[in-house]
Amino acid sequence: MPFKLPDLPYAYDALEPHFDTMTMEIHHTKHHAGYTNNLNNALGEDSKETCINDILKNIGNYSTAVRNNGGGYYNHKLFWTILSPDGGGKPTGALAKAIDQSFGSFEAFQKEFNTAAATRFGSGWAWLCVKDGKLVVCSTPNQDNPLMPDAGCSGQPILGLDVWEHAYYLKFQNRRPDYISAFWHIVNWDQVSKNYEEAMK
Ligand code: MN
Repeated sequence: MPFKLPDLPYAYDALEPHFDTMTMEIHHTKHHAGYTNNLNNALGEDSKETCINDILKNIGNYSTAVRNNGGGYYNHKLFWTILSPDGGGKPTGALAKAIDQSFGSFEAFQKEFNTAAATRFGSGWAWLCVKDGKLVVCSTPNQDNPLMPDAGCSGQPILGLDVWEHAYYLKFQNRRPDYISAFWHIVNWDQVSKNYEEAMK
């Protein structure tokens, strides 16, 4: 099986009170595990492909099952790493400068990201991406992501927010904006900065 469910880099209760323990545990052990297993099954035993980025960048060559589960595998793998119990606040350094240059201010960036996350109808993700050396905010439906050429938004994702109801319904019910507000308290800006620097290479 080429793809394995990654461990969370913190305990299930580490993001309390912002993200609750039961949601984190179900999200990881049921949802992300399901995408991972289904991706392996959809690729089949003969598959030699072990690079998820290559699969997503060439998603037109694959089945809908690979698209949905490969996206789910990649998106959650990124998501866990850009959260941290020591997160929140604002980015610093090169990323902070790039945000100011692309959006005018951190607050303007947050507003644009909040709108992308809140207005994504149904299930999907909001993203901060590097595209042509600049930062852009966008959103995608289902488990699509900006690495897929036909996702409707393109770039290298460096920050993502899951806005599927499974990510927030237990704690926030239908109040997606409250979930988005909670998210900002636990964003791991150190990791997002690393993702930014990697994407700019
Ligand atoms: Mn999810």
